[in-house]
Amino acid sequence: MPLCRSAARRAGRKDARRRRTLCAAPRRRTPRAVMTGRDVGHVFHTSLLDRRRLRLMQSLRLGIDLDGVVADFNAGWIDRYNMERGTNLTSDLVTDWDVIPSLTHFEHMGQFWRWASDFDGATLFRNLETFPGAADALWTLAKAGHHIVIVTTKPRWAIPDTYSWIGENRLPTREVHITNRKWEVDCDVYLDDAPANLRAFVEHRPNTRICRFVRPWNYPVEGTIDIHDWDEFVEEMTISGTTH
Ligand SMILES: [Mg+2]
Repeated sequence: MPLCRSAARRAGRKDARRRRTLCAAPRRRTPRAVMTGRDVGHVFHTSLLDRRRLRLMQSLRLGIDLDGVVADFNAGWIDRYNMERGTNLTSDLVTDWDVIPSLTHFEHMGQFWRWASDFDGATLFRNLETFPGAADALWTLAKAGHHIVIVTTKPRWAIPDTYSWIGENRLPTREVHITNRKWEVDCDVYLDDAPANLRAFVEHRPNTRICRFVRPWNYPVEGTIDIHDWDEFVEEMTISGTTH
């Protein structure tokens, strides 16, 4: 008995589906390790990965301090101080973390911070220069797929100027943390110049890579890696990114 027209169409579609199923290559499931990037060794043996996925797996969250690392805090306050008081202080005099009262007329840091909070309506942190190569290095790392996470400590009155400064200097970050408890910000790598912060990272984040930006005002901290300049940090992160 001949099929009616609609029944013939249904039968045709059924045959087509069956042919497609028979001809299709078996589906491969992507191993879970590849999708999460937990097992980099496995990834290198997998030929189906494209460059983009590989790059994402190598990306690190880099916790970057600002003052003394990206921003030249000492040059900033010394320039202003010399201009106001006619002195000839230079940055190389800063050889210790708490040296400011001994170099200036300020009796304690409280006085210094009050002074630094008002430079003609802005704060000290509004117009700091970046260290040579710092912004370029951050861009290099960001373009390599790493996440630049700013982790900085500031007085409360400096918070708006800190955001303005980051924007004006075009730092490649989507994430800024202004906190005294830096170790609470989850990162794969930390770069800082303050001995107290470095010790706190070692204590609270023992399984992370903690980098001391070597400066005249800090000293070696056990459990940290010494970084002498921004080129060295980029190189260190390139190695870390491929072995993470
Ligand atoms: Mg610092």
